Amino acid sequence: MSPAPSRQWSLAARPQGEPARTDVRLDEVQVPDPGPGEVRVRNTWLSVDPYMRGRMDDRPSYVPPFAIGEPMTGGAVGVVELVGDGVEGVSEGDVVLHDRGWRERAVLPAGAVRVVDADLAPAQAYLGVLGTTGLTAYVGVLDVAQMREGDVVLVSGAAGAVGSVAGQVARLKGAGAVVGTAGGEEKVRWLLAEAGFTDAADHRSAGAGELLGRLLPEGADVYFDNVGGPMLEAALPRMRDHGRVALCGAISGYNATSAPAGPRTLGVAIGKRLRLEGFIVTDHLERTEEFTREMAGWLARGELVHRETVTDGVESAFEAFLGVLSGANTGKMLVRLAPDA
Ligand code: NDP
Repeated sequence: MSPAPSRQWSLAARPQGEPARTDVRLDEVQVPDPGPGEVRVRNTWLSVDPYMRGRMDDRPSYVPPFAIGEPMTGGAVGVVELVGDGVEGVSEGDVVLHDRGWRERAVLPAGAVRVVDADLAPAQAYLGVLGTTGLTAYVGVLDVAQMREGDVVLVSGAAGAVGSVAGQVARLKGAGAVVGTAGGEEKVRWLLAEAGFTDAADHRSAGAGELLGRLLPEGADVYFDNVGGPMLEAALPRMRDHGRVALCGAISGYNATSAPAGPRTLGVAIGKRLRLEGFIVTDHLERTEEFTREMAGWLARGELVHRETVTDGVESAFEAFLGVLSGANTGKMLVRLAPDA
């Protein structure tokens, strides 16, 4: 065989505020044959995710920053097109999940790919509802917030990839009511008509305090927080005694150039005996097997729905990434690299 062409994105400069096109570069490269113990993968789907914005900054985090000039990484699925000497357990033609996204082709150690069951679900589902996105929702609701039957559950970012699954996991596990906030009437309609939310509202239609006052006249037991900022500040006073807040993300501040003010309402957590707990999905990978079994069942029985917002071609990945930060997506935002994928 011989080297194969690929296009790949790298970080050219650290963004100030919202990332600009000049902060990234799309380069054409030749990808070599795999060496011993390696495989070469032709990517078919790329994931773009809000946490990647944090990786563009140079500051300590649970995941290291992207290096300037180096290809960016992220979730991807693809087809193994070449296998190096000595590789076991991975064959040509296998569909694999790995972290060398933001590019068309990658050579990587065979141990760094996971073969997925493309008969169980379309390959890209492993980047979304059956992947860490779905697992985040599952462990956030069940393990972190420790939702109990009958609980009233509030989810922000409810029409996004994690939020839409979190609300449905809560419903399927016996929540008394599931209430969501999302950006725009179309997303609200989807949450009510298809995702089975009890109630939902457009977070841009009113101030957060007024919105939650309307949605939660009796308060909430669980808040699954994807957005932080003003919504978190408004949610705390709506919590019932012994309520639990799963701090999953704070996307409202990801492009901020200075630290946002803390929730001014934090003091209510004392009298209400609230528990606020941040979590990172990769600390909960031991739940993967049980999650996959349960999620596959819900999907097969049509009890849980999921949406994808798709752009085409590696050249669209940066726009897709900006879109996920600004709300262009309903459900999981994905980049399709193969027209037939
Ligand atoms: P989403 O699919 O939810 O996309 C992000 C959404 O955030 C956008 O669609 C937009 O929807 C919403 N948004 C953007 N800006 C604001 C704002 N200022 N206020 C309110 N909503 C806003 O992404 P994911 O599902 O992948 O991620 C959701 C959250 O979960 C993120 O905060 C992410 O960082 C976090 N996360 C955390 C993980 C963990 O391990 N803790 C793992 C995975 C994700 P809208 O139109 O509704 O405004």
